[in-house]
Amino acid sequence: MKRTVLVIGGGPAGLTAALRLSAKGYAVTLLERRGELGGRLIGSGAESTEHLDALPPVLFGHHTATLSLLDMLGTARHVQFPHRLHVEFALPDRPATRLPRPWAPAPIHSLLSLLTCRALPFRDRWRFLTWLERTWEGDPPLPSDLESRTAEEWLAEIGQSAAARAQVWNPLGHFLVGDELTVISAAMLMAMLARCFLSARRDSRIAIPSRSLHELLLDPARDALTRAGAIIRLETVSEQIRFDAHRITGVQLRTGEAISADWYVAALPHRSLGPLLPERVLTRFSYFQHVTKLADSPALAVHLWLEHPPPTPRLMLLAGETFHWLICRADQQTERPGTLVSLVATGRPELLERPDLELLDAALAEVGRAVPTLSAPKAQIHRIMREPHAFLTALPGTSARRPLQQSPFPNLFLAGDWTDTGLPATLESAILSGDLCAKAIAAREK
Ligand SMILES: Cc1cc2nc3c(=O)[nH]c(=O)nc-3n(C[C@H](O)[C@H](O)[C@H](O)COP(=O)(O)OP(=O)(O)OC[C@H]3O[C@@H](n4cnc5c(N)ncnc54)[C@H](O)[C@@H]3O)c2cc1C
Repeated sequence: MKRTVLVIGGGPAGLTAALRLSAKGYAVTLLERRGELGGRLIGSGAESTEHLDALPPVLFGHHTATLSLLDMLGTARHVQFPHRLHVEFALPDRPATRLPRPWAPAPIHSLLSLLTCRALPFRDRWRFLTWLERTWEGDPPLPSDLESRTAEEWLAEIGQSAAARAQVWNPLGHFLVGDELTVISAAMLMAMLARCFLSARRDSRIAIPSRSLHELLLDPARDALTRAGAIIRLETVSEQIRFDAHRITGVQLRTGEAISADWYVAALPHRSLGPLLPERVLTRFSYFQHVTKLADSPALAVHLWLEHPPPTPRLMLLAGETFHWLICRADQQTERPGTLVSLVATGRPELLERPDLELLDAALAEVGRAVPTLSAPKAQIHRIMREPHAFLTALPGTSARRPLQQSPFPNLFLAGDWTDTGLPATLESAILSGDLCAKAIAAREK
């Protein structure tokens, strides 16, 4: 008899756990509250658009969990890492400046990259490099309290000027970790800088796939699950997880139906987990109490279709007033060739209240400033995504509150971008958490 698994939540974390466990021979049932799979990748409120993700996907070479899943689904070949794609900084009153990726072995390429990055004033470059070199040599060692301090405090302490923090480090913080330097922990920023820019050159490669995550991930995942015999139940709301003293005994749906399995993976946003747990479980286990203390940052994305010959893809970090980064790519989805520009702001709840027209004007002005070849752009179509709970906020102290995938109950595992993966809450973290759940379940069967 096949062992059974119930996965609650059809976002990337739940899909990954379901796929990996189906591939290992488990009989998987996946429950999803909404009418389609994809979770936050397809946005929360508005109707999803087949060819447009809620935020534009950007993959790095070190996103190994995502690349391995796409490989399993047969879509990794659509993700190209062009040599010429760099992170660029759009600074006020200056042409865009690239973060170079020189051809040299690690760690020399990282040092050269920083040394030649003109976005940072020379003095800031020099101070950062000096700090980096001394830290490499362990003199002084990397401070142990980085997780309890903000990135802003740490950067100021290592001599980064206010201008460098505002124009370079803050947009980088928004892009890599999802919020202001004054909000995010120094440890998370440092960890992401190390992964993206201070590791092997291969890890710092960037891809902006021209296909949407629907095509790369969601549709192939649904098809692979169906082929493997998994049961996908959409518009199925889980209302309560039932426990006896030691284990999970089942999940009750809103319709009153109860489902049971050998193993359970709760792949829900952290805010949705608490209401499913009985009060006695919430109060007894600090593991679950920590989850109720996690906070989220909002995200706003404005997608513009411009009637303009397709550009080479660009990823630009913005030091402007409204948005923090943009990507620019050829629109290969519609019949008329054009340019698709997506601008993203994170961690600014007040922006979500602004009317569409105001956001559209701000977006067009920002595009005109950052990419002069698209000067005086006129949007043919636009779509605006507002997501109040987009990412887990990486506040100082948050990493200790993120739960491991194995819960105190032996047959319950938690997946989700917000669980303990060591990464900011992104697609890569969600997929990694699904992988970890599947591995843990398989290991327990041995
Ligand atoms: C607007 C936006 C754009 C983003 N774009 C990117 C990007 O381009 N790249 C990137 O790396 N990251 C991106 N992210 C982050 C990425 O979407 C998330 O990291 C990822 O979706 C998290 O996956 P998850 O499975 O952990 O959670 P979710 O995607 O939130 O999935 C959880 C699922 O559980 C379901 N659910 C909730 N309650 C119940 C219930 N009671 N019963 C049954 N089902 C339930 C939900 O409907 C949802 O489908 C974006 C986030 C947002 C908000």
